[in-house]
Amino acid sequence: MSVHMIIVMQHQAPKEQLDAVLERLTEAGFQLHISEGVSRTIIGVIGENTKERIAGMAVEAMAGVEKVVPILHPFKLAGREFKPEPTVINLGDLTVGGQEIQVMAGPCAVENEEQLLTVAQSVKEAGATILRGGAYKPRTSPYSFQGLEEEGLKLLAKTREATGLKIVTEVTGVEFVPVVAEYADILQIGARNMQNFQLLKAVGRTTKPVLLKRGPSATFEEWILAAEYIMTEGNFNVIFCERGIRTFESYTRNTLDISSVPVIKHLTHLPVIVDPSHGTGKWHLVTPMALAAVAAGADGLMVEVHPNPSQALSDGPQSLTPDNFLELMIQVRAVAQAINRQMGKLQ
Ligand code: PEP
Ligand code: MN
Repeated sequence: MSVHMIIVMQHQAPKEQLDAVLERLTEAGFQLHISEGVSRTIIGVIGENTKERIAGMAVEAMAGVEKVVPILHPFKLAGREFKPEPTVINLGDLTVGGQEIQVMAGPCAVENEEQLLTVAQSVKEAGATILRGGAYKPRTSPYSFQGLEEEGLKLLAKTREATGLKIVTEVTGVEFVPVVAEYADILQIGARNMQNFQLLKAVGRTTKPVLLKRGPSATFEEWILAAEYIMTEGNFNVIFCERGIRTFESYTRNTLDISSVPVIKHLTHLPVIVDPSHGTGKWHLVTPMALAAVAAGADGLMVEVHPNPSQALSDGPQSLTPDNFLELMIQVRAVAQAINRQMGKLQ
């Protein structure tokens, strides 16, 4: 199933004209994706031999139709051809992809109640709006700490109650989608799972926004096609997250590709955020790269913060102390202001 053609309605075409077009296409057996923008409606048409069949139906001649165009990119639903306006995802009183910049901060892994609450309170005070923390950890070694699993999800939910912060946490397998979706506000797909197509489809069948990390060796096209897997299941609320790619460089853990921010914005209508923690692997590089990300147009950041990084059960070397995170937020706020963006705020 893929969108082969898009039908762009004229600016402010009356509803009766839109309905007539939709009716004709539905009668012909096409599946439709309707995208209502501020100024015009765009219809994505899905089905076999779409191009030839639509040409034969003279849809272009119908009242209210501006143009009928084939989608040339391999990605259909995520592309700007399908939807020119940026997608703004609503998350309670927060938005992702609009004017606001959302900062997601917290420990790499949920370790215990006290650790989580301490970090949550400090990042909230500094201006973060979303708490991150892994309960299911995709560790490189099976001998490393694997996470508290459902117990960790419960601690995240409890901390949300106490602070009002939203929760983003990773789901590492299809079998965990229901339980993670029960607790989290945003489902995180980790870099290692970016091409776990069954998992992508499973989160696509939920109604929760999905944070889709870039695979360590994924091209832009592969990354956007991963989003397409989520969207073809009906979930259009995908947030891209650049977290660095593997290159020949070994001083940094990954090479953080800031160019992905304008590239994703150019090719797609979806929000994109940056994770300078996994992107660099070194805490002293996190703030400068966070500033670069916001300056490049990122819709948010994901930053690891730990009350005592040297004692962290995972990713201590790249974790900021609460004090360093506060300093990051002061500087990020100044960059946001310089480019006319606002920092997200919890009510
Ligand atoms: C994480 O954010 O906890 C994580 C494991 O990151 P990544 O999937 O980018 O390695
Ligand atoms: Mn981590």
